[in-house]
Amino acid sequence: MYHLITICFFIPLSLFALKIEQTPIEFGDVRVELTKQYIKSHYALHVKDIKIVPKIIVIHHTAIDDFEDSISRFISETLPTDRPDITSGGALNVSAHFMVERNGTIHQLMPLDFMARHVIGLNYNSIGIENVGGANSADNLTKEQLRANIFLVKELKKRFDTIEYVIGHYEYRCFEGTPLWLEVNDGYRTFKDDPSVRFMDALREEINGFKGAPCAQGHK
Ligand SMILES: [Zn+2]
Repeated sequence: MYHLITICFFIPLSLFALKIEQTPIEFGDVRVELTKQYIKSHYALHVKDIKIVPKIIVIHHTAIDDFEDSISRFISETLPTDRPDITSGGALNVSAHFMVERNGTIHQLMPLDFMARHVIGLNYNSIGIENVGGANSADNLTKEQLRANIFLVKELKKRFDTIEYVIGHYEYRCFEGTPLWLEVNDGYRTFKDDPSVRFMDALREEINGFKGAPCAQGHK
């Protein structure tokens, strides 16, 4: 551990390629089928598969400060019964493509070209990055998580030249009325404050070539 810290200290962060751990959640036929149903009922699209063309990266926090607790929320293919806030949205469980631990360890949870349920209106166009933390809306994501998010955003841009936007989940409604917004149910919205303006501002300081959310409270 001491050795790793020494390396991090002396090598500029931008040159330090981080590792992506493969930590797959359950994503079998059941979740694929439920995803198709979600796409049909929420986006009025009839699709043969659940493959996406990502245009937006959405940054989140899990609102839980423990990694195991956080990932346990995503493992099941169907939505747990204690999510009354979004059960009206269907039985597909929530997920995200990545989860970043508080020490900065990055986990890829599912195929990058599959749709995850992580943001109302924009799932079919976006990749989700969850950060462990933010319990009780605390603005407590770590500098190690910031470093991991900077790396991941840059890495994703290299892999997908279709990506144009990086936004915080709290900015998702800025896309209402744009071609990227697909939700057909005007009554299906939830309030979101994750990850935090501070975290998004710090992230945007270190990345170039992305658009912010298209509304007044968007940044840069
Ligand atoms: Zn979120």
